[in-house]
Amino acid sequence: MSTAIIVVGANGRMGRTISHLAAMEPGYSLAGMVDSKEHLGKLAGAACPVADTLAALLPQAPGAVVIDFTAPVVSLNSAKAVAAAGSALVIGTTGFSDAERAELEALAQRAPIFWSSNMSIGVNVLRKVLPELARALGEPYDIEIVELHHNRKKDSPSGTALTLGEGLAQARGWKLEDVRCSSRDGIIGARPKAQIGIQAVRGGDVVGVHTVYFMGPGERIEVSHHAHSRETFAQGALRAAAWLADKKPGRLYGMPDMF
Ligand code: NAD
Repeated sequence: MSTAIIVVGANGRMGRTISHLAAMEPGYSLAGMVDSKEHLGKLAGAACPVADTLAALLPQAPGAVVIDFTAPVVSLNSAKAVAAAGSALVIGTTGFSDAERAELEALAQRAPIFWSSNMSIGVNVLRKVLPELARALGEPYDIEIVELHHNRKKDSPSGTALTLGEGLAQARGWKLEDVRCSSRDGIIGARPKAQIGIQAVRGGDVVGVHTVYFMGPGERIEVSHHAHSRETFAQGALRAAAWLADKKPGRLYGMPDMF
């Protein structure tokens, strides 16, 4: 069965990749594209309906699954629109505050909503494996994460680094917000044992690199994930849309549910 897709943020880096794949991949069709008023001109000539609000497009494509890679406030509006219309929504946007995340979780009671800070298969396998490594190595091994992204990325550290950090903190019996260190400057003294460093590097057109360091006495392990293109995230988002299409609301779904 084919899954019809509406893309919100269709003129963005991720939106363009997802729209292209939805139109080309067997099993998917592109049912609509949404972007802000000033970007609508760039979507002119599209072979599907185009609008500057999701609410205007939803009645034209009943049953379509919405994919939104934009900004937190825009994705929350998409969640409100699908909750009102009874549609399903996949969100890849990062940078939600705790309050925005809570609002998203509440809206997931009313519509099937899926959110993942990283849609790639590789990163989601790492989410499983890294806590095991942390437990096996034990507390003598300090954990640090370094992420690299392109110079247009708005949020820092990346949602993926925070997600990986949350899993690693949990493996040590900590909460990430209690132990995260994202800035070191001046006379900082010795590194506390209960700490996870997450540092962000920005530049050029880097799609996304995440490296987790386990540094112990006399040795270190480095685990790196390199995203070569945005297609890996777009493929994951399409797969999530097909998976979500027949799901019921109730809680915010994520990659672990799909695997
Ligand atoms: P981008 O800036 O290239 O694209 C964002 C798009 O949203 C733009 O076209 C913009 O015009 C549009 N937009 C802004 N306001 C809008 C509105 N009111 N209605 C509709 N569209 C609107 O950004 P990007 O690089 O594509 O990244 C988007 C988000 O996805 C970021 O939060 C990024 O961190 C995240 N991301 C997630 C993954 C993942 O796997 N989950 C992968 C890559 C990027």
